[in-house]
Amino acid sequence: MVRVRFAPSPTGHLHIGSARTALFNWLYAMKMRGVFILRIEDTDLRRNVDEAFGAILDAMKWLGLDWQEGPYYQSQRLELYRKEVERLLETGKAYRCYCLPEELEERRKEALQKGLKPMYDRKCRELSSEEREKLEREGRKPAIRFKVPLEGKTIFKDVIRGEIEFYNSEIEDFVIMRKDGIPTYNLACVVDDHYMEITDVIRGEDHISNTPKQILLYEALGYAPPRFAHLPMILGPDKSRLSKRHGATSVNAYRDMGFLPEAMLNFLALLGWSPGGNREIISREEMIAEFELERVKRHPAIFNMDKLIWLNSHYMKTSPPTYLARLAVPFLEKEGLVGPDFSLSVLEAVIPLVQERAKTLGEIPRWVDFFFKDEIEYEPSAVEQWLKDELHRKLLLSAKEVLENIEPFNKENIETALRALAEREGVKAKEVFHPLRVAVTGKTVSPPLLESLEILGKAKTLKRIDQALGVTSP
Ligand code: GLU
Repeated sequence: MVRVRFAPSPTGHLHIGSARTALFNWLYAMKMRGVFILRIEDTDLRRNVDEAFGAILDAMKWLGLDWQEGPYYQSQRLELYRKEVERLLETGKAYRCYCLPEELEERRKEALQKGLKPMYDRKCRELSSEEREKLEREGRKPAIRFKVPLEGKTIFKDVIRGEIEFYNSEIEDFVIMRKDGIPTYNLACVVDDHYMEITDVIRGEDHISNTPKQILLYEALGYAPPRFAHLPMILGPDKSRLSKRHGATSVNAYRDMGFLPEAMLNFLALLGWSPGGNREIISREEMIAEFELERVKRHPAIFNMDKLIWLNSHYMKTSPPTYLARLAVPFLEKEGLVGPDFSLSVLEAVIPLVQERAKTLGEIPRWVDFFFKDEIEYEPSAVEQWLKDELHRKLLLSAKEVLENIEPFNKENIETALRALAEREGVKAKEVFHPLRVAVTGKTVSPPLLESLEILGKAKTLKRIDQALGVTSP
């Protein structure tokens, strides 16, 4: 049975790159009918950020990446790591290092000056018990380092990148447990992946250099290593590593801008993978059915904001209005449009008029504000163009009289009556419609007018016209 894990460190928000890693793990688990595990790597207490736990879990839930096990917290598993480190010490595969940070730094500088690779010089690797006791008497506390073989190569076959090899001589005796008894990432990761029976480790390419260290740990601990798959980097359009310079990097920021989870998920899926036939639009179910780890690309993926917006418009156009209405409410709240007489059913009726136009949920308020405000503001240029001159004011007044008598107040009746008015007055229909649009919405660009009037209702429509004529009266 396939068992994979997503193992974020709670140091901040869920980054786009981490979300992509989570998604690919999740897709692989779903595809293989396996288990997706969430593990929080929170042993580096100095780097933990309290809000990060909640933010990461929120983002995962928003994307619908539900986990079947966890969250496990590494900070609650310290005993297990200590036990395994003890085992490595007993079998001579790890050793205590008493070097002080200042000493390490000094020797690092010396090595650099001599043109050598600044690796730990293995000073404590072969200490005699007398030497050790002497250092302990000085009050030094040891960190534990792993004894990396001095010769040979560590080779593994990456599912995506093929065979990768490292010379052991290039790998330093890395710390597996700090002086304070807290394990480092590599140790905790290997112990957990073993005890959680992880079959496939799928993570970002930035972890490739950790993999030989981890494989050496697997061997030393007598565990069977999992398969490894390293996902390509995500770059900004300028081909540098995706960062704040390129815009928001956290998933929650995109949620708060009004992107839909379906669009985000679709977008993330295309960062390093693509379904057959050059398709861009792909549903969650199709992704699961078609996902193949072996088909993840090796070359970096480019974060393309225009594509995200395009995908979002697609999902805005095709989602059910009731769904969009529910998601739009917080955005209306933010703009102060959700007052005492706010009606969700009005919003549901309005959504079909704007879902072709608004690219994000965040754009909905400015399209629909006039439905929810008591008094609207008028764009000065719109007033200037359509409500100032005598002809348009007269037409608007006549339109008001016509509208007063329409029963029922629906799109068809409104249209027939207003067109008849234009004909009677010998003007083009737009000379009637445009001033009316400005009167009711305050703008020259709005959702379709006739449908809007029907939803707004007769009483409000007439009140708006009065307001508009008042606004423009000399
Ligand atoms: N905590 C590590 C990270 O956030 C996990 C890496 C891994 O998946 O092994 O990068």
